[in-house]
Amino acid sequence: MSCLQLERLLPEYIKRFEAYIPSKPDPELMRLYGCSRLYRLNNNENPLGPPDAALEVIRNFFPPKAAIYPSGDAYYLRQKLAEKFSKHPDQFLVGNGANEVIGFVIKAFCESGDNIVTADKTFAVYEWVAEFSGFEARLVPLKDYEFDDRGMLDCIDDRTKIVFLCNPNNPTGTYWNRERLERFLDAIDSRRIVVIDEAYCEFVEADDYPDCMSLIDRYPNLVVFRTFSKMYGLAGLRIGYLAGELSVVDAIRRTCVVYSVNTLAQEAALAAVGDEGHLVRSRQFVRQGKDFLRRELTRLGLTFVAREGNYVMIELPMSDTLAYRKLMTQGVMVRSMTGFRFPNHIRVTISFMEAMEAFIEALETILRRSV
Ligand code: PMP
Repeated sequence: MSCLQLERLLPEYIKRFEAYIPSKPDPELMRLYGCSRLYRLNNNENPLGPPDAALEVIRNFFPPKAAIYPSGDAYYLRQKLAEKFSKHPDQFLVGNGANEVIGFVIKAFCESGDNIVTADKTFAVYEWVAEFSGFEARLVPLKDYEFDDRGMLDCIDDRTKIVFLCNPNNPTGTYWNRERLERFLDAIDSRRIVVIDEAYCEFVEADDYPDCMSLIDRYPNLVVFRTFSKMYGLAGLRIGYLAGELSVVDAIRRTCVVYSVNTLAQEAALAAVGDEGHLVRSRQFVRQGKDFLRRELTRLGLTFVAREGNYVMIELPMSDTLAYRKLMTQGVMVRSMTGFRFPNHIRVTISFMEAMEAFIEALETILRRSV
């Protein structure tokens, strides 16, 4: 038997690419770090969980349905979204989390030699999917923690197919207001697709935050991403979607393998849409938690960015990977930011007061010990 020639089989761009290593399950981590409870403040989940109606659906899920394939195109959910946003159901494409729809768009529009443009310090999956698919990801540095419109326009060339904007940005929480976004869309010609990732839009409280769903009518090259993982507390079920102009979504649909979104996720998401009470309650505790963190981080003399979204980014006088490990021994899990190109920074998810107090206590302890 001849030996496997992996070197010959792999394209250069896969050889170069390093796999993402997800964190271990909580019980393993707790054993590893010797803590008896763990506050998960690393993934921007909603500690309130799913809205009541979605919880009800999950509790009452009819087990024999597990043997039956789900709707291949999330039929009822798309109808519901169409109603909510006054659009046609075919203007929506539902995926296994917003993560999956990133791949749909890149596969639909990019071919050999094409590139995508995004920021250097933002949600990294746009960059990763482009690169492990063999396309160049052009990364424009943030300016004052914000996406740099001028820099992005300068970076676009004839082979730029997609521009990804994260609004509000993960991890900085900065956002472009309606005027700034429209100016950008006007300046970009419609030969490129502009993706606006609105994973955290339901947490935004600013009045001038743009309504991108309505902008799709004016800018046919606009594609909007949303997810049920954050505000709607369904991260474990994996469901997100994109919306766009009919012909654009028709094109993207060609790259979408059906049945990736399971029945329970579709039914829970359907029940979650439109629960305004859940949104109000979630925004309220995020506001309280953020105010608390602002006060406490100022008291500790730390630099931080606390804008929109259910997270805060903090600069530390020590390595973020070391801080991660030390906080874990205190039962607090945060996101270290070196992977986001923010060395010595951590990102913390806003949670209930008990968790926020535990985080500050643990942070104070590790800072005191490091001096
Ligand atoms: N976009 C952004 C900005 C995110 O932060 C995330 C998740 N962290 C996603 C998309 C993907 O979300 P999901 O796949 O869970 O829907």
